[in-house]
Amino acid sequence: MRAGVLALQGDVEEHARAFARAAEELRISLEVVEVKRPQQLRELDAIAIPGGESTTIGALAKRTGLLDALRDAVRGGLPTLGTCAGAIFLAKEVKDSVVGETGQPILGLMDIGVVRNAFGRQRESFELDLDTDFGRLRGVFIRAPAIVKVWGGARSAAKMRHPELGEIHAAAVQSNIIATIFHPELSTTAVHRYLLSLAKGRA
Ligand code: GLN
Repeated sequence: MRAGVLALQGDVEEHARAFARAAEELRISLEVVEVKRPQQLRELDAIAIPGGESTTIGALAKRTGLLDALRDAVRGGLPTLGTCAGAIFLAKEVKDSVVGETGQPILGLMDIGVVRNAFGRQRESFELDLDTDFGRLRGVFIRAPAIVKVWGGARSAAKMRHPELGEIHAAAVQSNIIATIFHPELSTTAVHRYLLSLAKGRA
């Protein structure tokens, strides 16, 4: 199988390593490629959209033609994981905790609403043990967004309490798409294993 990491900006290396470890645990042979051009999407069985800065990833995706091509590929069923900035990129509704509407380029595919930088300055980054549909894992949060709404085809895959917002979702799944507001690539292979199992089921 071949897995891609969208390599425009963000923690690409960490996703590549998480894919490699997950494949080893699942005993499948996996090639991992850095995706920078639309043509590369055709050869993939799964893709991860890393954490980073969603406005930068969006702007670069637009410039390279990857925005439309990736949207088509994900719509076509490509198993896709978006973490943190990647989750923002996948969402249909995006707001910023300070500036409100952002108008940033997004894929807009998942029935989730996110608030960027929802944990504010005091808690810019933190870790938390989480019960998720992928198992119990250590969630690493870095200037994380919050998934505040889940509707339609999407379902919550992990819930947590937010100091001001109350109950929010730390992860969501919509058929072939997974979004997490934390960074599984930094602490666990569970989510990448789940993604690869979706890819295996499709092959
Ligand atoms: N705050 C970033 C954004 O809004 C996301 C942070 C991250 O991916 N670690 O794009």
